[in-house]
Amino acid sequence: MTSIGIIGSGFGSIAVAVELARSGHTDLRLWERADDIGGVWRDNTYPGAGCDVPSPLYSFSYEPNPRWTRRYALQQEIHDYIRTVADKHGITPRVRFGAEVVAASWNESAATWDVTFTDGTTETVDILISAVGQLSRPVLPTIDGIESFSGTSFHSAQWDHSFDATGKRIAVVGAGASAVQLVPHLARDAAELLVFQRSPNFLMPKPDKPYTSVHKALFKIAPLSQRIERGGIWALMEQFARGLDDESRVGRINKSIALKHLRKQVTDPTLRAKLTPDYPIGCKRVLFSNEFYPALAQDNVEVITRAITRVTPTGVIDADGVEHEVDAIIYATGFDSQDFLESIDITGSGGQKLATQWTDGAHAYLGMYVPHFPNLFVTYGPNTNLGGGSIIFMLEAQARHMRQAIDRLEAGSFRTVEVTEEAEEAYDKELLDKLNHSVWAHCDNWYRHRSGRITSNWPGATLPFAQATKVLEPSAFRWS
Ligand code: NAP
Repeated sequence: MTSIGIIGSGFGSIAVAVELARSGHTDLRLWERADDIGGVWRDNTYPGAGCDVPSPLYSFSYEPNPRWTRRYALQQEIHDYIRTVADKHGITPRVRFGAEVVAASWNESAATWDVTFTDGTTETVDILISAVGQLSRPVLPTIDGIESFSGTSFHSAQWDHSFDATGKRIAVVGAGASAVQLVPHLARDAAELLVFQRSPNFLMPKPDKPYTSVHKALFKIAPLSQRIERGGIWALMEQFARGLDDESRVGRINKSIALKHLRKQVTDPTLRAKLTPDYPIGCKRVLFSNEFYPALAQDNVEVITRAITRVTPTGVIDADGVEHEVDAIIYATGFDSQDFLESIDITGSGGQKLATQWTDGAHAYLGMYVPHFPNLFVTYGPNTNLGGGSIIFMLEAQARHMRQAIDRLEAGSFRTVEVTEEAEEAYDKELLDKLNHSVWAHCDNWYRHRSGRITSNWPGATLPFAQATKVLEPSAFRWS
C-alpha cells in the first residue's frame, strides 16, 4: 500500500484526500500546522470575510450543499462546509494537528520522502503532496516606523477579535479583495476611517441573495435544481475568464459593467476619479461588492491615495507630510504569493533544491509535477490560480490527475514517477505564450514573480484545464 503524506488541510488538501480515499487509498496522512482544518477559510475571520465566487460553484461537485444560507456564503459557513466534507469522508481523523513541515528530502535508494517537522520529528512516505496554497503567508508592508505604533495593529488574515471598532479612528492599508469586504463593516462603527489605497480596483456588482426555505427545500428534494444553478454560474464565469485575454470583447463588456457600477454608486467626481483604475480590467483581480463604494462615500470615511511614508507611535504620515492620528492600523496588504513552497526546504533527486530550481519563478507540468522531484505532487501549484472562476473546480481536476498517477504506480509495480524535463519544458513554453497575451502582463499584481514571470495564474477558462488533466499522459513521465 502506497503511503501518502499531504501538507496542509485546506480545500486543496481535502480535495486530494477525498479523491484518494474514495478510490481506496487508505494510507493517507495529513499534516496541519494549526489546530483545525480549513486553510485560508480557517485563518481569514475578518468581519465580512466571505467568498466572491457563488457557493453552488465554490463547492465540490460531488458534495453539493443544499443548506447554503445565501448565494455568496460567508467564511464561517464555508469553513463548516470543509469540515463537514472532511468528516463525512473520514479525512479528519487522518490529520495530525500542530505538525508544521519544515523540510522534505528525497531518499534515492529507498524511493521515499523523509519529512521533517518543526519539533524535529520525521515521517517517511512514498508520495508527498504539497497543499499549502498560494495565500497562506500574510505580508505586512515595509514602511519605516511600522514597529513603533503604540495603538492596535494587525493583518486582515490575523484578525484580533478583541478589537472593537466602535468610535475609533482607524487606518486601513490596502484596497484589495479583503479590504473590500472588511471596510464596509468598519465604516459602520468607526468614528473615522482612512482607507489608504495605492491602486484602485475594478469592482463589479455582486448578485448575492439569501436562499429562502423554499430554495433549500428545492435543492434538497430536487438536487438537479442546484446543479442547474451551478452549471449556469460556471458557464458565466467561463465567459468572464475569457475576458482576461488582451483586448478581448468580453473584457470591454466587463469594464463597462464595472464603470457603470462606480458611476451609479459614487456621485462625487473627486472620489470617483480616485476609484477609477488606469490599467486593463482583470490585470489586478476584479472584485465584487455592493457595499464597498457606498461605504467609501460615507462622511466618516476618506480614501487617501498618497503613500504612507512613515508610521509613528500615534498614526501615519503620508507622502504630503500630513500626519493622521489613529487608534488602529489594519493591514489588508495581502500575502506572499511569489515564492511557492518557500517555507519548506525541499530537496529532490541529486540534491536539487526546489527553491533553486524556482529562483526565477515557480513552474510545473500541469502546475503539479516538477522534474527532479520524483513522487512530489503540488496542489494549487504554479499557474493554477484563476482570475475568475472557482478554484475548487481546478482542485478537483488536479486531485483526479494525482489519483491516476498513484493508481498507475501501483498497477505497474513502479516505485517512482517523475515528469520528464522535455514534457515540462514543452508545457511551459505553450503556457508562457498564452500568459504573455493575458491582461496580467500589464500591471503590478500578486500573480507575477519579481522576475516578471506570471507564476500564479492559469491562462483562460477552467474547461481547458479540466481537459488537459482528464487523462494522465504516461509518456510525460519516467516510471521506474
Ligand atoms: P491583495 O489583493 O494582494 O491586496 C493587497 C492590497 O494592499 C492592495 O490594495 C495593495 O495595493 C495594497 N498594498 C500592499 N502593500 C502596500 C503598501 N506597502 N502600501 C500601500 N498599499 C499596499 O490582498 P487581499 O485583499 O488580502 O487579497 C488577496 C487574494 O486573496 C485575493 O486576490 C483573492 O484571490 C483572495 N481573496 C479572495 C476573497 C474572495 O472573496 N474569494 C476574499 C479575500 C481574499 P496594490 O494593488 O497597489 O498592490
